[in-house]
Amino acid sequence: MSRYHNGHALIAENYGKVSALHFDPVEKKPLYHFYPGRIIFSIGSTGCNLHCQFCQNSEISQTSPEDFYPAQEYAPRDLVSLALQRKENIGIAYTYNEPAVWFEYMLDIASLSSAAGLKNVMVTNGFINTAPLDQLMPFMDAYSVDLKAFTEDFYRRITKAKLEPVKESLRHIRRAGRHLEVTNLVIPGLNDDDGTFEDMCRWIAGELGPETVLHLSRYFPTYKMSIPGTPLMTLIRLHELAVKYLDYVFIGNITLPEGNDTLCRNCKHLVISRKGYLTNVEGLDNEGRCKNCGNFVAPV
Ligand code: SF4
Repeated sequence: MSRYHNGHALIAENYGKVSALHFDPVEKKPLYHFYPGRIIFSIGSTGCNLHCQFCQNSEISQTSPEDFYPAQEYAPRDLVSLALQRKENIGIAYTYNEPAVWFEYMLDIASLSSAAGLKNVMVTNGFINTAPLDQLMPFMDAYSVDLKAFTEDFYRRITKAKLEPVKESLRHIRRAGRHLEVTNLVIPGLNDDDGTFEDMCRWIAGELGPETVLHLSRYFPTYKMSIPGTPLMTLIRLHELAVKYLDYVFIGNITLPEGNDTLCRNCKHLVISRKGYLTNVEGLDNEGRCKNCGNFVAPV
């Protein structure tokens, strides 16, 4: 994918070719317990190692750098300079398409940006070997990982990939002690079965810890999938199941009648309130601890 052999080595075709860059709320990655309410410089390229039928970014993920006309070239140091221009920015997020497909570029930027005092965030499908994951680990502060379903059948049919390597990446990130949040896009009839969903939540709690943030994201029809969007009631039902195992479960990609707030897992006090992308961290102290009981919730 996106590499050619020049007679001596494999060369990444998309090195330095940027399809999109924006300053986004960190909540958009989605990360709810990593510098809540702050912004992060977000960059993407083209290509992906998966072929999800429901891809919301297929115009960049399912194309090549040559076919994506607006792509612009940036040297790693130039992107770090752009990221440093906004004082309130916490760092750089590798996102929009799968960043593992421009691994070399991401690694070069992340090492520079880390040295400049910025945070690095990888928004990924998790379908990556542990060796490259280890190369990234010293520079990557947080991971937002899709766990798209909890059956090999779903991964094979709907994404053309496999579940087990994604589970291993999640375990690996957790063992390395990096910040980790998991996103599950709920698609009616494909991965919203209560039993399998509960198995997934039980696995997350057991292998990654009950404090792991889980985002239940609303699917809507796009790319090659025409199944109608996820009903709110389905998300609410699955949320009720998930909170039996996990302390921090959020519904996303849909406007909720009430906020999507964080209550401290220890004392249940409100520590972070959210309305859309408006985030208030008034229940946390300067070290990200609950002001009521001192439990650590999120770096701020
Ligand atoms: S992993 Fe993400 S970017 Fe790649 S095809 Fe699937 S949804 Fe699209």
